[in-house]
Amino acid sequence: VTVPEIRRNPITGELVILAPERGLRPQASAPAQPAAPRPAHRPDCPFCVGSEERTPGETLRLPAEGPWQVRAFPNRFSTLSAAGENWRRDDDLYCAAAAVGPHEVIAESARHDLTLAAMEPSGVHEVVRAWHHRLTAFYADPRVVHVSLFKNHGPRAGASQEHAHSQVVGLPLVPEQQRRRTQLAFEYLEERGGCLFCRVLRDELVAEQRLVHQSAGFVSFIPWAALSPFHLWIFPRRHAGAFSAAQPEELADLAAHLHRVLRLVDAALDGADYNLVVHSGPPAQAAAAHRHWYLSVVPRVTASAGFELGTAMFVNPSLPENSAVRLREAGRTVAP
Ligand SMILES: [Zn+2]
Ligand SMILES: [Zn+2]
Repeated sequence: VTVPEIRRNPITGELVILAPERGLRPQASAPAQPAAPRPAHRPDCPFCVGSEERTPGETLRLPAEGPWQVRAFPNRFSTLSAAGENWRRDDDLYCAAAAVGPHEVIAESARHDLTLAAMEPSGVHEVVRAWHHRLTAFYADPRVVHVSLFKNHGPRAGASQEHAHSQVVGLPLVPEQQRRRTQLAFEYLEERGGCLFCRVLRDELVAEQRLVHQSAGFVSFIPWAALSPFHLWIFPRRHAGAFSAAQPEELADLAAHLHRVLRLVDAALDGADYNLVVHSGPPAQAAAAHRHWYLSVVPRVTASAGFELGTAMFVNPSLPENSAVRLREAGRTVAP
């Protein structure tokens, strides 16, 4: 690419300007502050082992026997009101709905100093099992129509607690972004036939250049129209619309796969902060022809600003093809 190129992501409909000659701006390319070594436990941390009574009503503990590795409990600073009925009001232009629904925290380790990349593979497996359990359980709440499962790793990704954790929010309405993506996938099904996600996955496997990692059931790649450097998608090879449909052996494969990818990101980007999102339809859409669940990992190496806010377009100062090379090369220094 000599002249910057605008690409449209066929799955999200989002536009990105690929401007690699801009390079990473100085403040953006500066490595994150090397984090001070953390203690294994902090008495003042509500997510550490020993602080269990400081979190309300535990909803999950893994493993069920013996010392816990992963715990889920309601978020004390919930975005939504956990109690209350769903209501909706459409008053001409002015639509409103009750902001009700569950919001939980999943503490990903009993220890304060571990991250997903740094923990044992068995620890990541428990975290993935907890995600699967809580996402599925949230959809059983009759008020919930969309579950947002995400992780903020590090302050640049919006984490307010140092202790590794993820969050689950059960929304009483479908977010506009999700509505649009579902519509795009449905249009593809109607006009071209088949699943848009399966098609993109096939294309990426043929093109090869944006692939980062493959396992029996999953493929990681940098999307052709990645919004930011190293923005990464993890697709299950098996077509399924809902994460809740994943089988135990798929969860084990996903955990090992994700662990590998996060260690690649960690090694290539000096422990960069990142966001992780599980994109999934409800269990009732597990067999829908146009839905396909997946994960995204978005390292926070650039900041979005006024241009993004004003246009809903993004500027990616790296080519997705080059980002993939850098992550693959990091694999040479990361133990399998
Ligand atoms: Zn802690
Ligand atoms: Zn599919």
